[in-house]
Amino acid sequence: MSAVPSRDVPSSAALAVDPDAPIPGVLIDGVWSLGEGARLPVHDPVSRARIAWLAEASAAQVDAAVQAAARAGAHWRATSAAERGQALARIAEAVAAAQPMLVALQQRNNGKPRHEAEADVADTIATFRYYAGLCASGQGLDEQMVALPEAGVDARLARVPLGVAALIVPWNFPLVTTAWKLAPALAAGCTVVLKPSELTPLAECALQRLIADSGLPPGVVNLVCGGAATGRALVAHRGVAKVSFTGSNAVGQQVLAACGPRMTRVSLELGGKSSLIVLDDADLDRAVELAIGGAFWNAGQMCSATARICVARPLVSRFTEAFVAAARALRRGPADDVATTLGPLISARQHATVCARIAAGRAAGARLLCGVVPAVGEGAAGVGSDTGWALPATVFTDARAVPALWDEEIFGPVACLQSFDRDDEAAALANDSDHGLVATVVGGDATRARRLADTLQVGTVWINTPQLIFPQTGWGGFKHSGLGRELGPWGLQAYQELRHVIAPG
Ligand code: NAD
Repeated sequence: MSAVPSRDVPSSAALAVDPDAPIPGVLIDGVWSLGEGARLPVHDPVSRARIAWLAEASAAQVDAAVQAAARAGAHWRATSAAERGQALARIAEAVAAAQPMLVALQQRNNGKPRHEAEADVADTIATFRYYAGLCASGQGLDEQMVALPEAGVDARLARVPLGVAALIVPWNFPLVTTAWKLAPALAAGCTVVLKPSELTPLAECALQRLIADSGLPPGVVNLVCGGAATGRALVAHRGVAKVSFTGSNAVGQQVLAACGPRMTRVSLELGGKSSLIVLDDADLDRAVELAIGGAFWNAGQMCSATARICVARPLVSRFTEAFVAAARALRRGPADDVATTLGPLISARQHATVCARIAAGRAAGARLLCGVVPAVGEGAAGVGSDTGWALPATVFTDARAVPALWDEEIFGPVACLQSFDRDDEAAALANDSDHGLVATVVGGDATRARRLADTLQVGTVWINTPQLIFPQTGWGGFKHSGLGRELGPWGLQAYQELRHVIAPG
């Protein structure tokens, strides 16, 4: 995730949202309209002000969007991979040209510090470029002859687009999560109906305007903004051939169940409870830097947060001192202040949930090293009142036996420290989880770190690096962290069926 330099023209009508008028959050067949469902408030999490209204897409609008995608699919699936690649390249360039506007919207609607919002837009561009390149190369898209042991028979393999794909994304990385689904779906020849989170529609709607203006045929990408009701209608629709869902485990299970009766193909990117392991030969400064990023980037609202920090006993006291000092030094503040290094939580509800976990953890006996324990009932107007729904970086130790802190995903700026004596004990601590998304290992001996990485039951392990995610490498988890993989060629395969044709050769 590399930050991109910003240009100094944050120009777009998309920034001038009227807080009293609902934003058009429905795009069907190239036509924008207002949702016909409930009105939902959209907030700036730093000021806590309502900055827009979103009218939810109704079930009838979801139906119309799926039908539009099905009609557009007849043409889109027949285009060549090269043509689709050109369309994706145009989208990448449109997003790159609109970078300042998207960064500003991401900051405003998510409260992200500037460098974090810039990294999101850079990842979005990189994803569209990667799948544009894959289409241009034909890799994973071409027909292929399959080698057979018998003469006189040929087998031809075709990769067939699944059809209409329903893409449902959360609020923590808008644009990025969308691009991870949209780019491979379009590359495969699917048409889509996208449902962003109801909490963060601003940058998502702006992205869809850019995509529509980039020359993509109407109906290839349709948008239905809204909350759970809109998502349920989309998943249940008979015209949907594939659901790709990123979000919580609770909703992921509902989505999986709803896909069952019709065997709708489904990919799930769900929650995590991940570890960062500091070996006794680690560089201490590097370990602290990586631990801070792993626990507090995006205010800890990351499926990949490495909030279980396991430290080799000889380093514990020095690591703890340095880590707590670095956590205390993180600055809350306005998203456009360059000094801000810790953004707010997304909503009053998320703030209250995280406060409740901190209080429960403290009450259950975990020891607080820094941060605050909110008083009962102290929610949106309390701890974070100076800087919106923010919380200070909070660090616990002695939390191993406290499920609210150690076992459950917190999705806030809360980390737990735990010591270990042997490498296999560190692996056992990391693997003792229902989740299996990621892990980080920090250590001086590359062979030893790699040996440990090979024992971890997770989809991605970083050794001595920050949480770098490349479009070329797959993303997804073991165990309850999901089903399937996004990104790379695996992300493309998630939108394809395979058809073999065997005939005399
Ligand atoms: P969420 O499950 O509440 O919502 C996710 C999306 O699903 C939203 O668009 C929401 O409107 C929609 N939705 C809600 N109920 C639905 C239903 N019944 N049917 C269909 N759609 C429905 O999750 P969230 O709070 O927005 O996001 C946080 C969660 O997402 C965390 O658990 C986090 O770990 C997970 N996440 C995972 C990854 C990953 O790659 N594994 C990435 C980002 C976030």
